[in-house]
Amino acid sequence: MINFEALFKISYGLYIVSSGTKDKGNGYIANTVFQITAEPPQFAISCNKNNLTTQFIQESGAFAVSILHKDTEPTIFGRFGFKSGKDINKLEGMSLTYGETGVPIVLNDCVAFMEFKLVQSVEVGTHIIFIGELLQADVVDNDKEPMTYAHYRQVRKGVAPKNAPTYIDKSKLAAKPPAPEHKKYKCTACGYIYDEAKEGKKFADLPADWVCAICGSEKDDFVEV
Ligand code: FE
Repeated sequence: MINFEALFKISYGLYIVSSGTKDKGNGYIANTVFQITAEPPQFAISCNKNNLTTQFIQESGAFAVSILHKDTEPTIFGRFGFKSGKDINKLEGMSLTYGETGVPIVLNDCVAFMEFKLVQSVEVGTHIIFIGELLQADVVDNDKEPMTYAHYRQVRKGVAPKNAPTYIDKSKLAAKPPAPEHKKYKCTACGYIYDEAKEGKKFADLPADWVCAICGSEKDDFVEV
């Protein structure tokens, strides 16, 4: 049997993977970034084939990774994790720098960034593993701690978007006993569930300016589930 809850015990970080040029680029939230070799320093990322960023990586032959910190603004997750670059310009208004290859690098809420030259692509079903050789890396903020996927799930109550390699359909998880006196409300933008039982507060009692902990959407964007 596969208990999908076991997969949540794998420790990942959370990153913005970006690519493109000075004129046009995109980025998305990833939790799969890992170092493969030390000499030369090569890293792998796993991108959904449908991601706009995937096209930019293939066209430019380069990509960047920004390592997010624990206090990352919910709107960063909303913008880069739950919206498509096909609908909005995700990089507009962001604090950016450009790499040696010209790829945009997002500096918002990040502790460090890295830039890579694409050296290999491996197609794996719905995703492509891009292998990059490190061109440059720098620390942006030494005081903040990097965000982990466990922190995002447990403390920030975050969920994985559908295009994430670690996305798990809820029907595959063991059913939890219901709490009839408590209701659940779902963010229509990012899928975050506000669970009254866990929060100890009725959704209706939340202040009017309360926003989604993950993507920053307003109360009105929630529906009862
Ligand atoms: Fe949300």
